[in-house]
Amino acid sequence: MVTHDFARPSVPHAEVRVDLDAIRANVAELAVRAGGADVMAVVKADAYGHGLVPVARAALEAGASWLGTAVLTEALALRAAGVTARVLAWLCAPGERWSDAVAADVDVSASAPWAVGEIAAAARETGRVARVHLKVDSGLGRSGAPRQAWAGLVDEALKAQAEGVLEVVGLWSHLAFADEPGHPENAAQLEAFNAAVAFAESRGARPEVRHLANSAATLALPDTHFDLVRPGLAVYGLSPIPDQVASADVGLRPAMSVRARLTLVKRVPAGHGVSYSHLYTTDRETTLGLVPLGYADGVPRHASSGAGAGPGAPVLVNGVTRRVAGRVCMDQFVLDLRDDAVQAGDEVVLFGGGEGEPTAQQWAEACQTISYEIVSRFAPRLPRTYVGAGVERP
Ligand SMILES: *Cc1c(COP(=O)(O)O)cnc(C)c1O
Repeated sequence: MVTHDFARPSVPHAEVRVDLDAIRANVAELAVRAGGADVMAVVKADAYGHGLVPVARAALEAGASWLGTAVLTEALALRAAGVTARVLAWLCAPGERWSDAVAADVDVSASAPWAVGEIAAAARETGRVARVHLKVDSGLGRSGAPRQAWAGLVDEALKAQAEGVLEVVGLWSHLAFADEPGHPENAAQLEAFNAAVAFAESRGARPEVRHLANSAATLALPDTHFDLVRPGLAVYGLSPIPDQVASADVGLRPAMSVRARLTLVKRVPAGHGVSYSHLYTTDRETTLGLVPLGYADGVPRHASSGAGAGPGAPVLVNGVTRRVAGRVCMDQFVLDLRDDAVQAGDEVVLFGGGEGEPTAQQWAEACQTISYEIVSRFAPRLPRTYVGAGVERP
């Protein structure tokens, strides 16, 4: 068992706690659900806010054989930390640090001939063979070569492969409606992807991996698994199809909890305005509790409640669920704790996976967004602390 650095909380007031056992259990579950396909754990965006390197190591321990990042700097950070597994970085711009990618043995993606040209030039320069995944737009309308440009991209890449500077190791695409498994666009995209693969193979491509499935498709669309699946959200224990299955229904356990300590508790009379613009007013004599987290930490301002705002996101304090009262500020928000027995220093759980704790999904609903956004936006100023086997206790 590899040991992880325990990120000692540098501040006493709040933390993002990440359970690496949950990450490992989720990856093991996804590996089973992937059938014969390999698992690429997607760790972009600092592992959806959970911490790039500890999550990557845990995922690899549990059976993932690939890691996926969006930008190249994330892939290079994995290499700098000593992670040697296959890594694909798929979001690159003209003038990218391709030489660093090739030198660090990072797989890269190309959606257009200019990228093939730049990658080939970097490979000639470094004297190493670049590994390239060609991406087709099978219908998402985001990255990937549009269908009419696929032949040109394939031929350009195979020309460079014949020269010996790069290897086309992957053919891939991404789905638009995986979170609606019954949507007809899924079948249309699958057909388009199969056609693109067949075309590339007819031109002589011999890809090591063909890959299409994100978390939702890994769970619900087995026809899309091919050789490799690319789950992100499910690795973190959250359901990508929350209106159809809760994470627990598919054997997944949330890895992140966000916890803080009340910095102030005080009694106020009825009719007391709370926080900016007094969106919320106390309806009786009550106890207000101050939570030292705000939108600069990643608490959405949409978690506010009161006049013109939403219902307020739920928070657990000493076994009781309360909602954000009034406006979320930059560094703080307020709770109306009624007559609860609380004092400064008591723990507040914004969301987590434990008994009675609100979930990231409930936060997403209160804020009219998706759980992806809730977990991935917590700021670096909040320390990540890690729990689970292999974590060294301070
Ligand atoms: C983010 C991303 C994934 C993972 O998506 P989830 O829905 O989190 O599983 C997979 N592939 C690509 C290209 C992505 O951008």
